[in-house]
Amino acid sequence: MLLALGRRWKRRKGGGALERVIGRFTDDAAGPTFICIAGLHGNEPSGVQGLKRVFKTLQQAKPSLNGEFVGLAGNLSALAQHRRFIDYDLNRCWSAATVEDHAPESGFAPTTGVEAREQRELLAELERVFDRARGEVYVLDLHSTSGDGAPFAVLNDTLRNREFALAFRVTIVLGVAENLGGTLMDYINDFGHVNIGFEAGKHDDPATIDNAEAAVWVGLAATGCVASGLPEVHRSRSRLTQARGPLPRVAEVRYRHAIARADGFRMEPGFLNFQRITTGQLLARDRRGEIRSRKSGRMLMPHYQELGEDGFFVIREFRPHWLAASALLRRLRFDAIVHWLPGVRRHPKYPGTLIIDRRIARWRALDLLHLLGFRKQRAIGNVLLISRRARPRPPRPRRRPSA
Ligand SMILES: [Zn+2]
Repeated sequence: MLLALGRRWKRRKGGGALERVIGRFTDDAAGPTFICIAGLHGNEPSGVQGLKRVFKTLQQAKPSLNGEFVGLAGNLSALAQHRRFIDYDLNRCWSAATVEDHAPESGFAPTTGVEAREQRELLAELERVFDRARGEVYVLDLHSTSGDGAPFAVLNDTLRNREFALAFRVTIVLGVAENLGGTLMDYINDFGHVNIGFEAGKHDDPATIDNAEAAVWVGLAATGCVASGLPEVHRSRSRLTQARGPLPRVAEVRYRHAIARADGFRMEPGFLNFQRITTGQLLARDRRGEIRSRKSGRMLMPHYQELGEDGFFVIREFRPHWLAASALLRRLRFDAIVHWLPGVRRHPKYPGTLIIDRRIARWRALDLLHLLGFRKQRAIGNVLLISRRARPRPPRPRRRPSA
């Protein structure tokens, strides 16, 4: 229910430095909460610009709005310098332990430094929005890529996230989110909020701003914050449908090439997101020599920037009937008995993790487990540990950010 009377706008003034809250709208009644985060990586300003455009249009056109819509800037310091990050990656430091003590567990990140402050401030703002929420909370995390190509969405593969992601019309890629550790999306997922990441195109391409703007409009309609009949929503849906073109609706990761700084990794020039690649094709080089594709499929996120931990992903189409099949298996709670399969047992300590004996479970157990959302895997000898997002745990008690 939406009343213009209830509307409250808070618009940050001044043309100076970017502020944490890019814009905010609330109508004071119960309704959905839609949070857009942009610029977690400082070399990805397109989301910030796209969000500013949406807030400007909303301000001028004043359509009926429902619930709360808020746009937040991620790494203000890095955005000001147009760098991915200053001291450490603000999208790899959100494990629960890290957030609790602001001491990133992996050892590469200092407990102080620019991003520790950015994380504290962003977390405090997020918690304020979560605390105010009186309906479903949706989070859209806007990014861009160093390689060119069509926009796409990534998500922790739960049914609710999937349903939300499909509204955006671009290809949704399963298995990226689960393979990156400590992302903000991971953290938000554990609160049980619906969330997806949106990769809007190449950094600094003007079309990427248009795609980010379109994603925000589509998100506003998909969450129920605005009516889906708005002309901006209609235009945005068409734009994103067109941007996908003939690409598959859903794809899944078949291979991730992780890199470390010492590898001297260099991608061969000219690869695009979704470009077809063949087995044996030369993709990159590092200090050990040539890196050739072990699988055929499509290239995703070729690494053409200085900082980062992912060289590239190889993805393949995930056919729509498998999407339906996996939804059905999950609704039937097939996961509750999956450890009855030969060679599959539950991890005694970690819910959401299965131990696969590869000598026994040779057949298509992995494909079946993928359908159930188990996408993160680690091989140790004959054993494979495979996990998925654990069921959301209740939000932790609110903590005041320390000074
Ligand atoms: Zn990013």
